[in-house]
Amino acid sequence: MLIVGNGNLVTLGGDPRVISGGAVAVEDGLIVEVGTTRDLQAKHKKAEFLDAAGAVIMPGLINIHAHGYGAFARGLAIPGEPPRTFLQILRGLWWKLDRALTLEDVYVCAALGFIDGLRNGTTSVFDHHASPKAIAGSLDEEARAAGEVGVRACLCYEVSDRDGPEPAAAGIEENVRFIRSLGGWPGRLAGCMGLHASLTLSDATLGRAVQEAGKLGVGCHLHVAEGPEDGADSVARYGKSVVKRLADLGVLGPRSIAAHCVHVDQEDIDLLVRTRTIVAHNAQSNMSNAVGVAPALAMVGKGVRVGLGTDGFTTDLFEAAASTNIVHKLAARDPSVGWEEGQRMVLDTNAEVASEFFGGRLGALAPGYGADLIIVDYDPHTAMNEDNFWGHMLFGMRGGQVRHAIVDGQVVMHGRQVLGLDEARLRARARTLSKKVWERFAAM
Ligand SMILES: [Zn+2]
Repeated sequence: MLIVGNGNLVTLGGDPRVISGGAVAVEDGLIVEVGTTRDLQAKHKKAEFLDAAGAVIMPGLINIHAHGYGAFARGLAIPGEPPRTFLQILRGLWWKLDRALTLEDVYVCAALGFIDGLRNGTTSVFDHHASPKAIAGSLDEEARAAGEVGVRACLCYEVSDRDGPEPAAAGIEENVRFIRSLGGWPGRLAGCMGLHASLTLSDATLGRAVQEAGKLGVGCHLHVAEGPEDGADSVARYGKSVVKRLADLGVLGPRSIAAHCVHVDQEDIDLLVRTRTIVAHNAQSNMSNAVGVAPALAMVGKGVRVGLGTDGFTTDLFEAAASTNIVHKLAARDPSVGWEEGQRMVLDTNAEVASEFFGGRLGALAPGYGADLIIVDYDPHTAMNEDNFWGHMLFGMRGGQVRHAIVDGQVVMHGRQVLGLDEARLRARARTLSKKVWERFAAM
Protein backbone atom coordinates (compact mmCIF):
# COMPACT_ATOMS: atom_id res chain seq x y z
CA MET A 1 0.00 0.00 0.00
CA LEU A 2 1.07 3.55 -0.73
CA ILE A 3 -0.19 6.59 1.16
CA VAL A 4 0.20 9.99 -0.47
CA GLY A 5 -0.37 12.53 2.24
CA ASN A 6 0.39 15.72 4.05
CA GLY A 7 -1.24 17.83 1.36
CA ASN A 8 -4.38 19.70 0.42
CA LEU A 9 -6.40 16.77 -0.89
CA VAL A 10 -8.81 17.77 -3.67
CA THR A 11 -11.09 14.82 -4.34
CA LEU A 12 -13.31 16.22 -7.15
CA GLY A 13 -15.96 13.71 -8.35
CA GLY A 14 -19.56 13.40 -7.20
CA ASP A 15 -18.80 14.22 -3.55
CA PRO A 16 -16.10 16.89 -3.92
CA ARG A 17 -14.10 17.78 -0.83
CA VAL A 18 -10.91 19.60 -0.02
CA ILE A 19 -9.19 17.99 2.97
CA SER A 20 -6.44 19.99 4.61
CA GLY A 21 -3.65 17.67 5.82
CA GLY A 22 -5.33 15.09 3.59
CA ALA A 23 -4.10 11.76 2.32
CA VAL A 24 -5.07 9.05 -0.11
CA ALA A 25 -4.30 5.35 0.29
CA VAL A 26 -3.59 3.37 -2.87
CA GLU A 27 -3.38 -0.37 -3.44
CA ASP A 28 -3.36 -2.57 -6.57
CA GLY A 29 -3.92 0.42 -8.82
CA LEU A 30 -7.00 1.62 -6.96
CA ILE A 31 -7.76 4.23 -4.36
CA VAL A 32 -8.85 2.43 -1.23
CA GLU A 33 -9.33 5.29 1.20
CA VAL A 34 -9.17 9.06 1.56
CA GLY A 35 -8.99 11.00 4.81
CA THR A 36 -6.54 12.85 6.99
CA THR A 37 -2.88 11.87 6.90
CA ARG A 38 -2.92 11.17 10.62
CA ASP A 39 -5.86 8.74 10.38
CA LEU A 40 -4.61 6.89 7.33
CA GLN A 41 -1.07 6.49 8.68
CA ALA A 42 -2.37 5.27 12.04
CA LYS A 43 -4.56 2.72 10.27
CA HIS A 44 -2.01 1.47 7.74
CA LYS A 45 1.27 1.47 9.64
CA LYS A 46 3.21 -0.57 7.09
CA ALA A 47 2.22 1.51 4.06
CA GLU A 48 4.85 3.38 2.07
CA PHE A 49 4.52 7.13 2.37
CA LEU A 50 4.89 9.81 -0.28
CA ASP A 51 5.04 13.23 1.34
CA ALA A 52 3.17 15.92 -0.61
CA ALA A 53 4.75 18.50 1.74
CA GLY A 54 1.77 20.83 1.75
CA ALA A 55 1.12 20.64 -1.99
CA VAL A 56 -2.22 19.92 -3.68
CA ILE A 57 -3.04 16.24 -4.20
CA MET A 58 -5.63 15.92 -6.96
CA PRO A 59 -6.76 13.56 -9.74
CA GLY A 60 -4.52 13.44 -12.82
CA LEU A 61 -5.84 15.49 -15.73
CA ILE A 62 -7.29 13.95 -18.88
CA ASN A 63 -6.72 15.19 -22.42
CA ILE A 64 -9.35 13.90 -24.83
CA HIS A 65 -7.75 15.08 -28.09
CA ALA A 66 -4.00 15.23 -28.75
CA HIS A 67 -1.50 14.57 -31.53
CA GLY A 68 1.83 13.24 -30.33
CA TYR A 69 3.12 12.97 -33.89
CA GLY A 70 3.53 16.74 -34.17
CA ALA A 71 6.48 16.93 -31.75
CA PHE A 72 9.00 17.72 -34.47
CA ALA A 73 7.00 20.73 -35.65
CA ARG A 74 8.59 22.77 -32.89
CA GLY A 75 10.91 25.28 -34.54
CA LEU A 76 10.10 24.04 -38.04
CA ALA A 77 9.80 26.79 -40.62
CA ILE A 78 7.11 26.44 -43.28
CA PRO A 79 8.66 27.45 -46.61
CA GLY A 80 7.01 30.13 -48.74
CA GLU A 81 4.17 32.46 -47.86
CA PRO A 82 2.62 31.97 -44.40
CA PRO A 83 -0.59 29.88 -44.70
CA ARG A 84 -3.74 32.01 -44.76
CA THR A 85 -6.40 29.31 -44.45
CA PHE A 86 -6.88 26.17 -42.40
CA LEU A 87 -6.50 23.97 -45.48
CA GLN A 88 -3.21 25.70 -46.29
CA ILE A 89 -2.01 24.92 -42.75
CA LEU A 90 -2.92 21.25 -43.25
CA ARG A 91 -1.28 21.05 -46.66
CA GLY A 92 1.76 23.19 -45.88
CA LEU A 93 2.60 21.76 -42.48
CA TRP A 94 0.81 18.75 -41.02
CA TRP A 95 0.26 16.66 -44.17
CA LYS A 96 3.93 17.03 -45.06
CA LEU A 97 5.28 16.53 -41.56
CA ASP A 98 3.35 13.31 -40.97
CA ARG A 99 4.51 11.92 -44.34
CA ALA A 100 8.13 12.44 -43.24
CA LEU A 101 7.80 10.20 -40.15
CA THR A 102 9.35 6.76 -39.77
CA LEU A 103 8.30 4.23 -37.14
CA GLU A 104 11.18 5.34 -34.91
CA ASP A 105 10.05 8.96 -35.24
CA VAL A 106 6.55 7.86 -34.23
CA TYR A 107 7.88 6.26 -31.05
CA VAL A 108 10.09 9.22 -30.14
CA CYS A 109 7.42 11.85 -30.86
CA ALA A 110 4.81 9.94 -28.89
CA ALA A 111 7.16 9.53 -25.92
CA LEU A 112 8.01 13.24 -25.97
CA GLY A 113 4.33 14.17 -26.06
CA PHE A 114 3.42 11.79 -23.24
CA ILE A 115 6.34 13.06 -21.12
CA ASP A 116 5.40 16.70 -21.64
CA GLY A 117 1.78 15.92 -20.86
CA LEU A 118 2.67 13.98 -17.71
CA ARG A 119 4.99 16.72 -16.52
CA ASN A 120 2.04 19.09 -16.92
CA GLY A 121 -0.23 16.80 -14.93
CA THR A 122 -1.96 14.79 -17.68
CA THR A 123 -2.20 11.12 -16.79
CA SER A 124 -4.63 10.02 -19.56
CA VAL A 125 -4.32 11.00 -23.22
CA PHE A 126 -6.54 10.37 -26.24
CA ASP A 127 -4.04 10.49 -29.07
CA HIS A 128 -4.88 10.79 -32.75
CA HIS A 129 -1.97 9.63 -34.89
CA ALA A 130 -0.89 9.98 -38.54
CA SER A 131 2.24 8.72 -40.32
CA PRO A 132 1.18 7.75 -43.89
CA LYS A 133 4.61 6.33 -44.80
CA ALA A 134 4.80 4.24 -41.63
CA ILE A 135 1.31 3.02 -40.85
CA ALA A 136 1.64 -0.66 -39.91
CA GLY A 137 2.86 -0.99 -36.35
CA SER A 138 2.70 2.75 -35.63
CA LEU A 139 0.16 2.29 -32.83
CA ASP A 140 2.41 -0.33 -31.22
CA GLU A 141 5.21 2.25 -31.18
CA GLU A 142 2.90 4.75 -29.50
CA ALA A 143 1.72 2.08 -27.05
CA ARG A 144 5.35 1.27 -26.21
CA ALA A 145 6.00 4.97 -25.54
CA ALA A 146 2.89 5.25 -23.35
CA GLY A 147 3.94 2.13 -21.43
CA GLU A 148 7.42 3.46 -20.77
CA VAL A 149 6.24 6.91 -19.72
CA GLY A 150 3.47 5.28 -17.71
CA VAL A 151 0.41 7.22 -18.89
CA ARG A 152 -2.96 5.85 -19.91
CA ALA A 153 -3.41 6.23 -23.65
CA CYS A 154 -6.34 5.73 -25.99
CA LEU A 155 -4.74 5.38 -29.41
CA CYS A 156 -5.97 5.46 -32.98
CA TYR A 157 -4.59 5.84 -36.49
CA GLU A 158 -6.01 8.68 -38.58
CA VAL A 159 -7.59 7.00 -41.64
CA SER A 160 -7.72 9.27 -44.69
CA ASP A 161 -8.18 9.03 -48.44
CA ARG A 162 -5.82 11.94 -49.00
CA ASP A 163 -2.97 9.61 -50.06
CA GLY A 164 -5.10 7.17 -52.03
CA PRO A 165 -6.94 3.92 -51.32
CA GLU A 166 -3.98 1.85 -50.10
CA PRO A 167 -2.97 4.03 -47.14
CA ALA A 168 -6.69 4.38 -46.29
CA ALA A 169 -7.08 0.59 -46.14
CA ALA A 170 -3.81 0.26 -44.24
CA GLY A 171 -5.04 2.83 -41.72
CA ILE A 172 -8.24 0.90 -41.05
CA GLU A 173 -6.23 -2.29 -40.76
CA GLU A 174 -3.82 -0.69 -38.28
CA ASN A 175 -6.70 0.39 -36.03
CA VAL A 176 -8.32 -3.05 -36.24
CA ARG A 177 -5.04 -4.88 -35.60
CA PHE A 178 -4.15 -2.66 -32.64
CA ILE A 179 -7.59 -2.83 -31.00
CA ARG A 180 -7.62 -6.64 -31.38
CA SER A 181 -4.14 -6.83 -29.86
CA LEU A 182 -5.39 -5.14 -26.69
CA GLY A 183 -7.55 -8.15 -25.96
CA GLY A 184 -10.00 -6.15 -23.89
CA TRP A 185 -9.64 -3.49 -21.26
CA PRO A 186 -9.71 -2.14 -18.49
CA GLY A 187 -6.14 -1.09 -18.39
CA ARG A 188 -3.78 1.63 -19.33
CA LEU A 189 -4.37 1.25 -23.06
CA ALA A 190 -7.48 1.64 -25.16
CA GLY A 191 -8.18 2.10 -28.84
CA CYS A 192 -10.77 3.38 -31.25
CA MET A 193 -11.19 3.90 -35.00
CA GLY A 194 -9.26 7.02 -35.98
CA LEU A 195 -10.49 9.02 -38.95
CA HIS A 196 -9.14 12.29 -40.30
CA ALA A 197 -12.12 14.44 -41.29
CA SER A 198 -15.10 14.44 -43.62
CA LEU A 199 -13.26 16.37 -46.31
CA THR A 200 -10.60 13.66 -46.81
CA LEU A 201 -12.87 10.63 -46.46
CA SER A 202 -15.10 9.03 -49.08
CA ASP A 203 -18.40 7.39 -48.20
CA ALA A 204 -16.87 4.02 -49.04
CA THR A 205 -13.92 4.45 -46.66
CA LEU A 206 -16.13 5.79 -43.88
CA GLY A 207 -18.55 2.92 -44.39
CA ARG A 208 -15.77 0.35 -44.13
CA ALA A 209 -14.27 2.01 -41.06
CA VAL A 210 -17.64 2.18 -39.30
CA GLN A 211 -18.32 -1.47 -40.12
CA GLU A 212 -14.98 -2.55 -38.62
CA ALA A 213 -15.44 -0.31 -35.58
CA GLY A 214 -18.90 -1.84 -35.05
CA LYS A 215 -17.48 -5.36 -35.13
CA LEU A 216 -14.95 -4.37 -32.47
CA GLY A 217 -17.47 -2.48 -30.34
CA VAL A 218 -15.54 0.79 -30.51
CA GLY A 219 -16.37 4.28 -31.72
CA CYS A 220 -14.54 6.70 -33.99
CA HIS A 221 -12.25 9.61 -33.13
CA LEU A 222 -12.16 12.28 -35.84
CA HIS A 223 -12.07 15.98 -36.64
CA VAL A 224 -15.50 17.47 -37.31
CA ALA A 225 -16.19 20.88 -38.89
CA GLU A 226 -12.90 22.30 -37.66
CA GLY A 227 -12.30 24.81 -40.47
CA PRO A 228 -15.01 26.21 -42.74
CA GLU A 229 -13.65 24.03 -45.57
CA ASP A 230 -14.98 20.81 -44.03
CA GLY A 231 -18.59 21.98 -44.12
CA ALA A 232 -18.31 23.60 -47.54
CA ASP A 233 -16.90 20.36 -48.98
CA SER A 234 -19.66 18.27 -47.40
CA VAL A 235 -22.43 20.55 -48.66
CA ALA A 236 -20.92 20.70 -52.16
CA ARG A 237 -20.33 16.96 -52.51
CA TYR A 238 -23.05 15.40 -50.39
CA GLY A 239 -25.65 18.16 -50.01
CA LYS A 240 -25.58 18.11 -46.21
CA SER A 241 -23.61 19.32 -43.22
CA VAL A 242 -20.61 17.38 -41.93
CA VAL A 243 -22.45 16.31 -38.79
CA LYS A 244 -25.47 15.15 -40.81
CA ARG A 245 -23.24 13.24 -43.23
CA LEU A 246 -21.37 11.53 -40.38
CA ALA A 247 -24.61 10.73 -38.53
CA ASP A 248 -26.12 9.21 -41.69
CA LEU A 249 -23.04 7.02 -42.13
CA GLY A 250 -23.11 5.83 -38.52
CA VAL A 251 -19.85 7.52 -37.51
CA LEU A 252 -21.36 9.34 -34.53
CA GLY A 253 -22.46 7.74 -31.29
CA PRO A 254 -21.75 7.51 -27.57
CA ARG A 255 -18.34 5.97 -28.12
CA SER A 256 -17.25 8.46 -30.79
CA ILE A 257 -15.19 11.60 -30.23
CA ALA A 258 -15.84 14.51 -32.58
CA ALA A 259 -13.00 16.99 -32.19
CA HIS A 260 -13.72 20.70 -32.68
CA CYS A 261 -17.30 21.08 -34.03
CA VAL A 262 -16.56 24.77 -34.66
CA HIS A 263 -18.84 25.19 -37.67
CA VAL A 264 -22.04 23.51 -36.51
CA ASP A 265 -25.60 24.79 -36.54
CA GLN A 266 -28.57 24.08 -34.31
CA GLU A 267 -29.59 20.99 -36.26
CA ASP A 268 -26.04 19.62 -35.97
CA ILE A 269 -26.04 20.25 -32.22
CA ASP A 270 -29.36 18.41 -31.89
CA LEU A 271 -27.82 15.46 -33.76
CA LEU A 272 -24.80 15.47 -31.43
CA VAL A 273 -27.18 15.38 -28.46
CA ARG A 274 -29.34 12.61 -29.94
CA THR A 275 -26.35 10.42 -30.82
CA ARG A 276 -24.67 11.16 -27.45
CA THR A 277 -21.46 11.88 -29.36
CA ILE A 278 -18.55 13.20 -27.30
CA VAL A 279 -17.22 16.55 -28.53
CA ALA A 280 -13.58 17.47 -27.86
CA HIS A 281 -13.27 21.23 -27.59
CA ASN A 282 -9.80 22.60 -28.36
CA ALA A 283 -10.04 26.34 -27.75
CA GLN A 284 -6.36 27.26 -28.06
CA SER A 285 -5.84 25.29 -31.27
CA ASN A 286 -8.93 26.92 -32.76
CA MET A 287 -7.54 30.34 -31.86
CA SER A 288 -4.14 29.53 -33.34
CA ASN A 289 -5.60 28.22 -36.60
CA ALA A 290 -8.07 31.12 -36.62
CA VAL A 291 -10.91 28.75 -37.53
CA GLY A 292 -13.41 30.41 -35.19
CA VAL A 293 -14.78 29.94 -31.67
CA ALA A 294 -16.67 26.67 -31.30
CA PRO A 295 -20.17 27.07 -29.81
CA ALA A 296 -18.98 24.96 -26.89
CA LEU A 297 -21.10 26.73 -24.28
CA ALA A 298 -24.24 26.37 -26.38
CA MET A 299 -23.42 22.70 -26.92
CA VAL A 300 -22.98 22.11 -23.18
CA GLY A 301 -26.23 23.99 -22.57
CA LYS A 302 -28.08 21.76 -25.02
CA GLY A 303 -26.70 18.63 -23.41
CA VAL A 304 -23.84 17.68 -25.73
CA ARG A 305 -21.07 15.85 -23.88
CA VAL A 306 -18.28 18.38 -24.43
CA GLY A 307 -14.84 17.69 -22.98
CA LEU A 308 -11.54 19.49 -23.38
CA GLY A 309 -8.58 18.52 -25.55
CA THR A 310 -5.49 20.36 -26.72
CA ASP A 311 -5.15 19.19 -30.36
CA GLY A 312 -1.38 19.23 -29.88
CA PHE A 313 -1.27 22.99 -29.40
CA THR A 314 -0.11 22.58 -25.80
CA THR A 315 0.33 19.66 -23.42
CA ASP A 316 -0.72 21.76 -20.42
CA LEU A 317 -4.38 21.16 -19.60
CA PHE A 318 -4.22 23.80 -16.84
CA GLU A 319 -3.28 26.39 -19.45
CA ALA A 320 -5.84 25.06 -21.94
CA ALA A 321 -8.56 25.30 -19.28
CA ALA A 322 -7.59 28.88 -18.42
CA SER A 323 -7.70 29.92 -22.10
CA THR A 324 -11.02 28.18 -22.60
CA ASN A 325 -12.44 30.10 -19.67
CA ILE A 326 -11.60 33.47 -21.22
CA VAL A 327 -12.08 32.99 -24.96
CA HIS A 328 -15.81 32.41 -24.62
CA LYS A 329 -16.17 35.55 -22.53
CA LEU A 330 -14.48 37.54 -25.27
CA ALA A 331 -16.49 35.87 -28.03
CA ALA A 332 -19.77 36.55 -26.21
CA ARG A 333 -18.63 40.00 -25.00
CA ASP A 334 -19.97 38.79 -21.66
CA PRO A 335 -17.68 38.17 -18.65
CA SER A 336 -20.36 36.12 -16.89
CA VAL A 337 -20.27 33.15 -19.27
CA GLY A 338 -18.10 30.07 -19.54
CA TRP A 339 -17.19 29.43 -15.92
CA GLU A 340 -19.49 26.49 -15.21
CA GLU A 341 -19.20 25.01 -18.67
CA GLY A 342 -15.39 24.98 -18.57
CA GLN A 343 -15.42 23.26 -15.21
CA ARG A 344 -17.86 20.68 -16.51
CA MET A 345 -15.74 19.97 -19.57
CA VAL A 346 -12.41 19.60 -17.76
CA LEU A 347 -13.39 18.05 -14.45
CA ASP A 348 -16.58 16.13 -15.23
CA THR A 349 -16.91 15.17 -18.89
CA ASN A 350 -13.24 14.35 -19.41
CA ALA A 351 -13.42 12.09 -16.35
CA GLU A 352 -16.57 10.39 -17.66
CA VAL A 353 -14.99 9.85 -21.08
CA ALA A 354 -11.79 8.40 -19.62
CA SER A 355 -13.81 6.12 -17.35
CA GLU A 356 -15.83 4.84 -20.30
CA PHE A 357 -12.82 4.26 -22.57
CA PHE A 358 -10.35 2.80 -20.08
CA GLY A 359 -12.89 0.96 -17.95
CA GLY A 360 -13.34 1.43 -14.23
CA ARG A 361 -13.69 4.91 -12.80
CA LEU A 362 -11.26 7.78 -13.26
CA GLY A 363 -11.06 11.47 -12.47
CA ALA A 364 -11.76 11.56 -8.74
CA LEU A 365 -10.00 10.61 -5.53
CA ALA A 366 -12.50 8.27 -3.91
CA PRO A 367 -12.50 4.60 -2.95
CA GLY A 368 -12.75 2.33 -6.00
CA TYR A 369 -11.41 4.89 -8.45
CA GLY A 370 -8.28 4.26 -10.50
CA ALA A 371 -5.27 5.66 -8.67
CA ASP A 372 -4.27 8.40 -11.11
CA LEU A 373 -3.16 11.43 -9.15
CA ILE A 374 -0.84 14.38 -9.29
CA ILE A 375 0.88 16.42 -6.63
CA VAL A 376 0.96 20.08 -7.57
CA ASP A 377 3.11 22.74 -5.87
CA TYR A 378 0.38 25.17 -4.98
CA ASP A 379 0.00 26.76 -1.58
CA PRO A 380 -3.14 28.91 -1.79
CA HIS A 381 -2.94 32.32 -0.14
CA THR A 382 -6.73 32.50 0.19
CA ALA A 383 -9.24 29.93 1.42
CA MET A 384 -9.54 26.95 -0.93
CA ASN A 385 -12.54 24.65 -0.68
CA GLU A 386 -14.72 22.40 -2.86
CA ASP A 387 -16.81 25.38 -4.00
CA ASN A 388 -13.96 27.53 -5.25
CA PHE A 389 -11.33 24.99 -6.33
CA TRP A 390 -12.00 25.70 -10.02
CA GLY A 391 -10.98 29.33 -9.48
CA HIS A 392 -7.77 28.25 -7.76
CA MET A 393 -7.06 25.84 -10.60
CA LEU A 394 -7.64 28.43 -13.33
CA PHE A 395 -5.71 31.28 -11.75
CA GLY A 396 -3.16 29.62 -9.47
CA MET A 397 -2.11 26.36 -11.03
CA ARG A 398 -0.14 25.46 -14.17
CA GLY A 399 1.59 22.34 -15.44
CA GLY A 400 5.03 23.56 -14.39
CA GLN A 401 3.98 23.17 -10.74
CA VAL A 402 3.29 19.42 -11.01
CA ARG A 403 5.88 17.67 -8.87
CA HIS A 404 4.90 13.98 -8.74
CA ALA A 405 2.50 11.83 -10.75
CA ILE A 406 0.97 8.43 -10.03
CA VAL A 407 -0.84 6.39 -12.67
CA ASP A 408 -2.67 3.15 -11.95
CA GLY A 409 -1.14 3.20 -8.48
CA GLN A 410 2.43 3.47 -9.72
CA VAL A 411 4.69 6.49 -9.16
CA VAL A 412 5.65 7.37 -12.74
CA MET A 413 7.09 10.84 -12.11
CA HIS A 414 8.93 11.87 -8.98
CA GLY A 415 10.38 15.33 -8.45
CA ARG A 416 9.52 16.08 -12.14
CA GLN A 417 11.72 13.15 -13.23
CA VAL A 418 9.88 10.67 -15.44
CA LEU A 419 11.03 7.33 -14.10
CA GLY A 420 10.25 4.89 -16.90
CA LEU A 421 12.82 5.94 -19.51
CA ASP A 422 16.08 7.78 -20.05
CA GLU A 423 14.76 11.17 -21.04
CA ALA A 424 18.10 12.82 -21.84
CA ARG A 425 18.86 10.01 -24.28
CA LEU A 426 15.41 10.28 -25.82
CA ARG A 427 15.79 14.04 -26.35
CA ALA A 428 19.25 13.60 -27.87
CA ARG A 429 17.82 11.00 -30.27
CA ALA A 430 14.94 13.37 -31.06
CA ARG A 431 17.36 16.13 -32.07
CA THR A 432 19.09 13.76 -34.52
CA LEU A 433 15.86 12.32 -35.92
CA SER A 434 14.07 15.67 -36.19
CA LYS A 435 16.88 17.04 -38.35
CA LYS A 436 16.28 14.21 -40.83
CA VAL A 437 12.51 14.72 -40.69
CA TRP A 438 13.01 18.42 -41.44
CA GLU A 439 15.20 17.53 -44.42
CA ARG A 440 12.55 15.17 -45.81
CA PHE A 441 9.90 17.83 -45.11
CA ALA A 442 11.90 20.47 -47.02
CA ALA A 443 12.35 18.11 -49.99
CA MET A 444 8.55 17.58 -50.40
ZN1 LIG B 1 -6.71 17.28 -33.99
